[in-house]
Parts: sequence; C-alpha cells; structure tokens
Amino acid sequence: MAAPGKRIVVVGAGIAGLTAARQLQQQGHEVRVLEAGPMPGGRVGERMVRGIRFNAGARLVYAFSKPFNALLDEIGLTPALVPVRRLSAECVGTADRWTVELMPGLSSLLTPGLSLTERLRFVAFGLAALRARTDPDDAASTPAADAVTLADHIRDRLGANVLERMVAPVFRGTRCWNPEEVSAAFFASTAPHLVGKDTVHVFQGGMGRLPQALADGLAIDCDTRVTRIETSGSGCRIHVEREGQNLVHEADLVVCATEGSLASGLFADLDPETRAFFAGVRYNSLGIVHYRLNRQVEPAMQFFTRAAAGPVATWQQVPGNETTGEAAQLYAQLSPEAVREAIERGMTDRLDELVSDRVRALYPGLDRDCADLHNQWIARKLPVFYPGYARSMSNFRERQSASPKKVYFCGDYLAQALITGAAASGERAARDIANHWGTP
Ligand SMILES: Cc1cc2nc3c(=O)[nH]c(=O)nc-3n(C[C@H](O)[C@H](O)[C@H](O)COP(=O)(O)OP(=O)(O)OC[C@H]3O[C@@H](n4cnc5c(N)ncnc54)[C@H](O)[C@@H]3O)c2cc1C
Repeated sequence: MAAPGKRIVVVGAGIAGLTAARQLQQQGHEVRVLEAGPMPGGRVGERMVRGIRFNAGARLVYAFSKPFNALLDEIGLTPALVPVRRLSAECVGTADRWTVELMPGLSSLLTPGLSLTERLRFVAFGLAALRARTDPDDAASTPAADAVTLADHIRDRLGANVLERMVAPVFRGTRCWNPEEVSAAFFASTAPHLVGKDTVHVFQGGMGRLPQALADGLAIDCDTRVTRIETSGSGCRIHVEREGQNLVHEADLVVCATEGSLASGLFADLDPETRAFFAGVRYNSLGIVHYRLNRQVEPAMQFFTRAAAGPVATWQQVPGNETTGEAAQLYAQLSPEAVREAIERGMTDRLDELVSDRVRALYPGLDRDCADLHNQWIARKLPVFYPGYARSMSNFRERQSASPKKVYFCGDYLAQALITGAAASGERAARDIANHWGTP
C-alpha cells in the first residue's frame, strides 16, 4: 500500500533546496519552500544594481555530473547550455606571465617554469584511472586526499612548480582558497573529470535560468526568513518572519537547505553529534568590485599569483553589448589576503578603497571612464573542505541516511562546493525521505 503523502517544508531555495523540493513533490508529497531572499536561487542567479550586472555566485556549469546532466534534461535546460571552450587566463607572476587553463589539458604541459620531471609526472598522473574511482559530486570520494592539504598533495605528486604556476592561481582566482588552507578533496575528486575536457558551460540567458526552471511548479514563499524550527513526536513547527510579521508553519518533515553554517542556529534541540558536526562547517568569504564604464573595453582575464602581491586575485575586462545597450564592466576580485583585511578593518562595504591603487594600475583611465561601481560582498561563498572535513561530512550523511528523521539537511557543504554538488545533495535528501517514509 502507498504511504500517505507528507507535508514537507523546505527551508532555503538554493539549488539544493529546489532540487530536493522538486523531487519530493514528484514523489507525491505536499511541499512548500520558504526562502529568506527576494528570489529563488541562493548563490546562483543574476543581479543588477544601478545598471551594473553581476552574478550572485556561480558563473560556470561543469558538465561532469551524470545525475545533474539528467536533471538538466528533465527540466528542459540542456538546449540552453552554451559551451565555453578552452577557458584560460593570463597568469601574472613577479617576473613573467603565462597562460593558465581552467580545464588543464596537454597544452598545460607547455606552462613555463615546470621541470622535466614535473612535466613527466603530469603525463603519468593516471587521470583515466582516477576518473573511474572518484565522484565529482562527492568530495568524500577520495578519502586519502581529505587527509592532506592541497598544497602538500600537489607538491608531493606533481611538484612545487605545478602548485605555484598552475594550481594555486586557479584556486585563489576562482575559489578564493589558498592551497594550504583546504584539503585536496575538492581537487582530487573533480580534477580527473576536468583534465582533458576543454569545455565548460553557461546558460543562454544567464545562470538564473537554472533556479527559474527548478522552481517552476513549486510553491515558494520568498522574503520569508525562518527563525526557529521545533520538532516533536507529532511533527515540526517552523517559525518565520515575513513582512514584519511572525508566523508559524506546521509540517510533518523539514528539509533544511540553508548554508551549513546557518543551519544549526535554527534548532534548539539538535543532538550533540549533529551539533558537533555543524560546529565544524566553515565558509570562506569573497569580495568583488564591479565597475561600470562609459566606454568600450577589450576582453581580458588575469589571475595574479600570491608572489605578485596585491589585493586583486582575478581581473576581468568585460566588453559591453552594443545590441542590448549593456555597458562595459571591469571586475576586480579580491585575493584571500585582501578578503581577510576587509573583514579585520570592517571594510566589507568599501572594498573599492582596498583595491583602488591596483585597479588604477591595471586600468589607468579608471577615473575618466568609470560611471559607477558596486561592492559585492559574499559572506558565505563556499564551504571550506579543510583536512578531515570530508570524512566528518560523510559520517554525518551516513547517520542521516541510517534511520527516519523529522529534519533532513542538504546543501553543497554536504557533497561538493559546486552547483552540481548542491543538486546531488538535494537529491540525496529526497532519496533518504523516500527510503525512510515511503512514497505516496
Ligand atoms: C562567487 C561564487 C562563485 C561560484 N562559482 C561557481 C561556479 O562557477 N560553478 C559552480 O558549479 N559552482 C560555483 N559556486 C558554488 C555554487 O554557487 C554553490 O555551491 C551552490 O549554488 C550552493 O547551493 P546551495 O543550495 O547548497 O546553497 P545556497 O545557494 O546558499 O542556498 C541556501 C539558501 O537558503 C536561504 N536561507 C538561508 N537562511 C535562511 C533562513 N533562515 N530562512 C529561509 N531561507 C534561508 C538562502 O537565502 C539561500 O537562498 C560559486 C559560488 C560563489 C558564491
């Protein structure tokens, strides 16, 4: 006999929450999503401030996850994928410049400054074999890599110059992670699926297409912040703030899909093991200054090494679009050190002051051409997979899957610090609920 449908509240309409909600609704449950922000998407989607356009977070889709590709097919977004081939940046060191590829391939062997041994090690890295043994949606699929820092992992296996000239600039410039502050879990579980594949994707019409398509047909209350969740034998009470009012929703089950560092604060009655896990969930922060220009620019993208010291890790010139009337923009992403300084000096809303000298050096016409600027501060950019975290995450997931619960957690911090990881985590929460409570 079919199980009765549950009333399920999903807290958070990021990719994890939307994916979980969608699958639970398909299973036949009555699902409502509560989102603190003004629109679904969380760290995915476009924003516009005074004519300055930018992304809330993710800019690229990595097509290495089979379940995610199947999800895109199901929601009709596969035709909207636009391939971006051989994405690369000019890497600026203290004495020279070279090209670094985001999807390393054979041409990466031409990177200057590598020794012959390092080049040979790169060729012999055994990526095909690693590809079969690792899951790009799960940072815990490479347990040995979880135990060491990324810096040690690369130095030992590939060499110090590979670390300094190929890996560190990309990790600092895209993830805002220093290789000695994270484990090798993210690298070791994703790199085998990236190397030799020269294509990443964006969505035609922007990244916001993804949350829009996932949200289609779901009941979502935006501008609704959950303040407390109580569980009892009979169900869950979800306290929310909405338009200055305090309201309460009742549900049989809750899926908590907020950023991991916010999740435990919503509960008064978590068991000690769960509380201990959440105490170890950390995110890094990121600052980006976006400048709107009143003249056209040539496209450019640069990563700066740590040795070429400065507050900017990634620099981009984004040409305007004469057809749509969109203005050209400059993009200055802070280095991990400048992010720390912004926090310590309370300057998260004045990032432009931290980078202004560097930006003027990179674009001498700034004062003449800049029409406006926007400081984007992302307090929780990515979950930090520091050494040992993936194992603790995997233990937590096993406990969640082991027996029926009233509350299930999902998010990128429980899988992989990527859109694909967030979706995989949402799918896992929906699967756990189906296993524990049956499907109507
Ligand atoms: C700058 C940046 C660049 C990135 N680049 C890439 C990339 O190129 N490719 C890639 O694959 N990934 C990238 N990522 C990572 C990717 O965006 C995330 O891994 C993914 O979007 C996380 O989804 P999520 O659902 O786990 O969390 P989130 O998107 O953070 O969703 C959590 C949601 O919960 C809501 N919430 C929080 N508290 C409450 C509350 N109390 N009540 C109600 N709602 C609440 C939040 O508002 C949010 O909408 C990037 C991230 C950032 C920030």
